[in-house]
Amino acid sequence: MSHRIEFVDLKAQYAALKDRIAARMQAVLDHGQYIMGPEVKELEQGLVAFTGAKHCITVASGTEAILISLMAIDLKPGDEVITTPFTFAATAEMIVLLGGKPVYVDIEPDTCNIDASLIEAMITPRTRAIMPVSLYGQCADMDRIGQIAARHQLFVIEDAAQSFGASFQGRRSCNLSTLACTSFFPSKPLGCYGDGGAIFTSDDRIAQACREIRVHGQSGRYHHTRIGVGGRMDTLQCAVVLAKLERFEWELQRRLAIGGRYDALFDAAGVERVRVRVDRDSVFAQYTVLVDDRTTVQARLQEQGIPTAVHYPKPLHHQPAYASQSGSEGCSQSVRAAARVLSLPMSADLAEADQDRVVRALCS
Ligand SMILES: *Cc1c(COP(=O)(O)O)cnc(C)c1O
Repeated sequence: MSHRIEFVDLKAQYAALKDRIAARMQAVLDHGQYIMGPEVKELEQGLVAFTGAKHCITVASGTEAILISLMAIDLKPGDEVITTPFTFAATAEMIVLLGGKPVYVDIEPDTCNIDASLIEAMITPRTRAIMPVSLYGQCADMDRIGQIAARHQLFVIEDAAQSFGASFQGRRSCNLSTLACTSFFPSKPLGCYGDGGAIFTSDDRIAQACREIRVHGQSGRYHHTRIGVGGRMDTLQCAVVLAKLERFEWELQRRLAIGGRYDALFDAAGVERVRVRVDRDSVFAQYTVLVDDRTTVQARLQEQGIPTAVHYPKPLHHQPAYASQSGSEGCSQSVRAAARVLSLPMSADLAEADQDRVVRALCS
């Protein structure tokens, strides 16, 4: 039997970057500033330059980025945040943790992102923010969402955990909203070797609030002006991301090319897939197709050494911990997508021959 394909090939990436990662990590071990060392600021500056957002605040994870963002806009118990039920739990989890209420708006069936045309009907006097998720690496309709938010004076927080590097109408993900949150979880498009994340904003006051909340609400050493958290990203993890950033533009080009190749091959074979709108691109944190007999297809691919994953098998309003807070019945497109989505091997280092094997196995 032929070799097992990696779902996300972190080994090939490490092989390519081994020396740079080692040098970056050794530098941290030599200077010994494990918390808030010089690499933290260097990474934040690099990410500011990359995204075009005015401020970047690195934090302990993508989840922490969402929590700190919601604290920075001073989300209060009972406040509502409009979001999608078709996402990883962390999106709604932090809203609930702060006593807020996630209000779920259904997705577009072809992109699997929040359907912006359904948002305005869900706005109430308690609505404080809209939190679209750039699912699978593609931004939602940030233009339209921004217009709705402006009309109703709401914050927009992009959950960009899967879309770092993506573009929307010529601008980068993480620079399209009041706040944006990304994750450096190892398998994300830009990952570290543990947990990490970042918040982006171009609002000076919100940026300052995020910086203070990250370090226990301190505006100066042992001067606590607000309630915060211990939410810093380690210097060592920042060093890993800095090393990976050197190859990131190349990886993005590879991801676009590999995703485009999957698209063409599946279109030719009549396989339904997640669509990418013409005014944006996807960094394909996941490459996802839609199938009716998912269990059978997964088993067949598994037999041929092809791992797959399901993001996500159950929309949040059907999850035990979240069902009770949701007033949103239905979201039928999210329910349907949850039953049909199937993510396939995807990484910058995916070989063409392996990709052909995936396509053949899926179409057989
Ligand atoms: C990964 C992910 C998160 C959480 O990021 P962590 O770094 O794992 O905390 C949040 N939202 C979405 C959509 C994600 O994919």
